[in-house]
Amino acid sequence: MHADYPDQIATIHRELGIPADYAKSRGLRLHAEAESQAMVTIAENSAGKPIQLIEQASAAWTRMQVAAHGEGITITPLSGFRSVARQVELIRNKLQSGAAIEQVLSIIAAPGYSEHHTGRAIDLGIPNQPPLEESFERTAAFSWLAKHAASYGFHLSFPRNNPHGIVYEPWHWCWISI
Ligand SMILES: [Zn+2]
Repeated sequence: MHADYPDQIATIHRELGIPADYAKSRGLRLHAEAESQAMVTIAENSAGKPIQLIEQASAAWTRMQVAAHGEGITITPLSGFRSVARQVELIRNKLQSGAAIEQVLSIIAAPGYSEHHTGRAIDLGIPNQPPLEESFERTAAFSWLAKHAASYGFHLSFPRNNPHGIVYEPWHWCWISI
């Protein structure tokens, strides 16, 4: 993490109107942006943009996807690495469409605090289902993940009623290691 990263993030937060006690009150920690040259493309999203993870997470993801597939379970990656700049853009879009910052922060982590910055977090879905919906919890893919993901190093970051004030995200898994 560059020495001036925390200050850069604080400046961005002031510009977006994010409360100064955001991280502290939610128990979230700052995540450095992964170096983009260290990233591996694992798939493309529906817009044709590459979905990327750091190398170790991508290797773990591939092993996990293959194992699930072997049991007849198809799991589709929807999103991986996301830069701080992209996070800012997502939040600005929500604010421009009339949402209040508190509302936005319950569904999108503040810039600097998204696990997607690390290249270790992945959003998962199944084919032909609406993405990033709580209903993912009721799929066979989710049941499989709940049972097996930890053995590949992936953990659910935002379970129901998590202490971070972030909505339940059954689709969001972060590679920590085994
Ligand atoms: Zn996510």
